[in-house]
Amino acid sequence: MKRISILGSTGSIGTQALDLVRQHPDLYEVSALTAYSHAEQLFEQVRTFRPKMAGLVQPIPRSEIPSDLSFCRFEMGTEALHIAAAEVEADQVLVSIVGIAGLQSVMDAIHAGRQVLLANKEALVTGGHLVMDAARESGHMLLPVDSEHSAIFQCLQGAGGNTPVRILLTASGGPFRTWTREKIEQATVAEALHHPNWSMGAKITIDSASMFNKALEIIEAHWLFDMPHEQIQVVVHPQSVIHSAVEFRDGAVIAQLGVPDMRVPIAYAMAYPKRIETGTQPLDLFSLHDLTFEKGDPVRFPALRIAGECLDAGGAACTVLNGANEIANSAFREGRIPFGGITRTVEETLSSLGTLPADTLPDIFEADRLARVRATEIIAKGF
Ligand code: NAD
Ligand code: MG
Repeated sequence: MKRISILGSTGSIGTQALDLVRQHPDLYEVSALTAYSHAEQLFEQVRTFRPKMAGLVQPIPRSEIPSDLSFCRFEMGTEALHIAAAEVEADQVLVSIVGIAGLQSVMDAIHAGRQVLLANKEALVTGGHLVMDAARESGHMLLPVDSEHSAIFQCLQGAGGNTPVRILLTASGGPFRTWTREKIEQATVAEALHHPNWSMGAKITIDSASMFNKALEIIEAHWLFDMPHEQIQVVVHPQSVIHSAVEFRDGAVIAQLGVPDMRVPIAYAMAYPKRIETGTQPLDLFSLHDLTFEKGDPVRFPALRIAGECLDAGGAACTVLNGANEIANSAFREGRIPFGGITRTVEETLSSLGTLPADTLPDIFEADRLARVRATEIIAKGF
């Protein structure tokens, strides 16, 4: 029986993890659950999974907590994240909150000796060096949940200590894969939210359309697998059947395949090194007619170029990229900037802030704050 705490339990990843818990009551017991603001949904989860603790980042009056949930300790505010990540006893902590908010929780959980299941890519993008150092010291490796990184991790099982010469990081290409640059610039929110293969939260869906998601994933792969970005090749593969691959020096390429269903990588992290039923459809190779591959286009999707530039720049450049993108992503969703404004906001924020230090967590949070302020000013000027 493993005790699991889920930060961001009301989100796309969080609810799918709970679906796996529901399928395996003999294997998992829920210790803590946290949500940002969906109190009703969280209450229902508490009723079903009976955790010891539940947290709401946006506080509500205690009088609104249903009386039948008195068995559960409720905590409010950001402190609830710390309590769920580090104080409540658990074997595993799934960090599936969105944005840089995940960084502190990941560090808290590692320092508390928990096995971290990492969905939140922003923690590695912003604090990759600190997170990887802390994980190494703790003796627990991070178990990736992001589908591509889970695929790479799975491909490396049994590699016998051989490091790959290349990571082939697949990308669906998003809804604008075949669009011209001019058309992409003017894309609407509805068009950007229409992901061809994956059903995900709103922020990451917009990031998939701009390919900032892939930019974040290049940085994430760089830290997780200690791989220079020059050896991480983005491969646009619209069918999303191959979830990524690794290439070894002898020319062998090992790939992981499956239907696009996040329950597979979530379950792999939850049960590692075992495999458990997920309820997903088996892959039917006979129904696949074409598997196609294209190079990512850094002209139409500048995010692919910006990721490498930020890794080369070092310091807090990746944090600034992430913070400016979070601001621009939500400004686009709120209709305040055109789609093309996302990239322009990120590039302008990066060039105007220059290289900031990232030696400590406070450095990173400060760089993030400055990036958000600057990106907000750039957006306010208008495009
Ligand atoms: P989501 O928006 O569906 O859910 C986010 C969850 O985090 C919710 O429970 C929300 O209440 C909580 N939350 C939001 N802001 C918060 C904050 N500031 N503090 C604390 N909690 C907060 O997001 P998602 O799609 O499930 O993605 C979660 C993370 O997993 C992201 O980092 C994303 O990049 C990553 N990821 C998601 C997918 C996917 O298929 N959805 C795939 C790969 C990686
Ligand atoms: Mg991914």
